[in-house]
Amino acid sequence: MSVSGLPHCATCGVPLRDYVHRVRPESERCIGLAWCPACRTYAGAMVHVPREEDLPDALAPLDEFDRERLLKSETKLVDHIDRLIRRGTWPPA
Ligand SMILES: [Zn+2]
Repeated sequence: MSVSGLPHCATCGVPLRDYVHRVRPESERCIGLAWCPACRTYAGAMVHVPREEDLPDALAPLDEFDRERLLKSETKLVDHIDRLIRRGTWPPA
């Protein structure tokens, strides 16, 4: 799935990262984020993913408070996922 339509950052040329999560658990409407890990430019878009499709949830290990905090801020969410990638725990195997 490509949110931005671009595989690489137009400025840095590095591969973009993306993350898609559902607005509500049973909703087809999802928020897709794509960002550049080098210059931190990011883009968000509403995307549709069929309900049957399993989207891995990067925030699943967090409690409700931390989830809410990250979902309210796209920059915090992007930072969080970058941290998981650095630790090697994202994307799930
Ligand atoms: Zn960039």
